[in-house]
Amino acid sequence: MAVESRFRQVHLDFHTSPHIPQVGHDFDAREFASTLHKARVDSITCFARCHHGWMYYNSKQFPDLIHPTLVNKNLLLEQIEACHGYGIRVPIYTTIQWDYHTAMEHPEWRVIGPKGELVGTKPYEAGFYQEICINTPYREFIKAHVKELMALLPVDGFFFDIVRPQDCSCRYCLEGMLEAGLDPTDQKQRLAYNKTVLDSFKLELSAFVRESHPDASIFYNSGHIGPFVRESKDAYSHFELESLPSGGWGYMHFPLTVRYARNLGIDCVSHTGKFHTSWGDFHSFKNKAALEFECFRMLALNCKCEIGDQLHPSGKIDPYVYDLIGSVYHQVEKKEAWCTNARAKAEIGVFTTEEFTGEQVPKAVAGAVQMLQEAAHQFDILDTRSNFQQYKLLVLPDDIQLTEKLGAELDEYVRGGGKLIVTGRSGLNEAGTRFMLGSLGVTLKANPTRALDGLPAGGREAGGRLQYVDYILPGQAIGKGLPPTEHAMYIKAVEVEAKPDGKVLAEVVASYFDRTWQHFCSHRQTPASGRVIQPGIVQRGGVIYFAHPIFTLYNRNAPRWCKQLVLNAIGLLLGEQLLTHNGPTSLLATVNEQPEERRWVVHLLHYIPERRSQEIDIIEDVIPLYDVRVSLKVDTSVKAVTCVPEMRALPFFRENGRLCFVLPKLEGHQMIEIAF
Ligand SMILES: [Zn+2]
Repeated sequence: MAVESRFRQVHLDFHTSPHIPQVGHDFDAREFASTLHKARVDSITCFARCHHGWMYYNSKQFPDLIHPTLVNKNLLLEQIEACHGYGIRVPIYTTIQWDYHTAMEHPEWRVIGPKGELVGTKPYEAGFYQEICINTPYREFIKAHVKELMALLPVDGFFFDIVRPQDCSCRYCLEGMLEAGLDPTDQKQRLAYNKTVLDSFKLELSAFVRESHPDASIFYNSGHIGPFVRESKDAYSHFELESLPSGGWGYMHFPLTVRYARNLGIDCVSHTGKFHTSWGDFHSFKNKAALEFECFRMLALNCKCEIGDQLHPSGKIDPYVYDLIGSVYHQVEKKEAWCTNARAKAEIGVFTTEEFTGEQVPKAVAGAVQMLQEAAHQFDILDTRSNFQQYKLLVLPDDIQLTEKLGAELDEYVRGGGKLIVTGRSGLNEAGTRFMLGSLGVTLKANPTRALDGLPAGGREAGGRLQYVDYILPGQAIGKGLPPTEHAMYIKAVEVEAKPDGKVLAEVVASYFDRTWQHFCSHRQTPASGRVIQPGIVQRGGVIYFAHPIFTLYNRNAPRWCKQLVLNAIGLLLGEQLLTHNGPTSLLATVNEQPEERRWVVHLLHYIPERRSQEIDIIEDVIPLYDVRVSLKVDTSVKAVTCVPEMRALPFFRENGRLCFVLPKLEGHQMIEIAF
């Protein structure tokens, strides 16, 4: 059952060592809740049990598991009751696959890897990352624990942490696989089995919670949301996208993930953190501009905000942290009326390779997200089960395999007027031997160049020192904004031939020779030989094919010519673009619609993450932009254009049938309401 999430959430970690004395000694329920209220927090996830394996409520059934130095056995209960006094929701956190105490007490419940090893933190390393298998009697413990929480505490919802597929060969998994007629020696089958175990665990636990608490919010965290959630989606009331840019996720993970997750039909919340780096970074502070950007970007991309914090073992809430969080959440509170039930107006759908590779930030998709965002395109990320009919243009970046059926559906979409951009190895069957799209203007060449591993060299990263570089020579239409000469493409094109009705928009020029130990030139790739060897970009009706994996190329080192070629192709196919502006490429612009309010909301964000350190990108400053001119494809008549929530009217005018206005100053984030 879907639950509407709140906009200003905190996830309050409390993984607390048993070696710290007097845990919770300085907890003051009134101070706790009033600090949150003052910071405009409206939901806070608090701890029933942590990764160390200790509980923070007065368990009757598991008294031995109450944190050994916990002074106040009713810590969680008092947190909940005090917050409820201010109308603040308190979903309950408990851990699933990481529990240090249980892992030590019950080594027979741990995940066993294919070599017979216990998976996770090793005996002489610090950490509680020993993986526990949910297929063991541990599952019964979890159910008893959740049942007790529902009996002893007021439950708004649950956050079940660390629920991820494992490659497990424990005795329970072995028995289960044999019973299901599977071959446990095959890793593919083990992983598939484990996924069904995990999906059924989630569905079973949610059904159990909903028996007594039908309105509870329920979320299972695996640090990412992707196509793998489809089979167990009903177990979730909403999605939480864990994505701390400084915590290993980077600034690309969130936009890529949310542009997929927001289309799955339930609310999305995203976690960043108040930490300078990642979870557990006590006594550190994220720069305010970074926290603003991360939260406002969530709003711009149809997501609600959640900031991670960790409560000090003393139980005392840190007022300075909540000064920081409050400085952003006061702003979010004013903005949220323009974000409630707002839907993205996406024109373009980009398929992800994640369902084939499991990669969470696939290079090609990240390259596509980067390019399209830099050009202010409005787009979603899709998988092969998404409903793609609603998009004007679909992009298949670099390595989207097609089945016969999906190929036929895409051909049908093109016949109905849909446009396609297909790049690199996309469109091929699983074996990579044939294009499954009749609408494509190319066919595979027979006997392609083979790489050292025996597979065709085209369309793949060869590794080493740029062995298979070739050059693209753009024709007039596709080369707008580029000099009419060769441009380096650091990954070789897939070797194709144009069909007779395929229009070649760019050709590929070979180098004198590939770089090998026998022949090489200078430090890097061999220069162009002038010899045209194949088409590089081919249009056939509403379909444009790029022979190079152009999005992977862009993700690798962002050649502007690669982006320009793609943007020109989009221009050729789409004509007008929903939103354009005269700002820099660092400006993020999104368009949302609130149908009930009869308005659109344009979000403009300008914050620049800079690689200032070995480890992470930093945002410290807000760099204002002046006189940002925005042009929108709006066909209906517009009543007013207003900067919100300030309610400052902006003059607007029509130009070439488009709605135009100028924002005199953009300082960080601005929403502009277009009222119809
Ligand atoms: Zn197992």
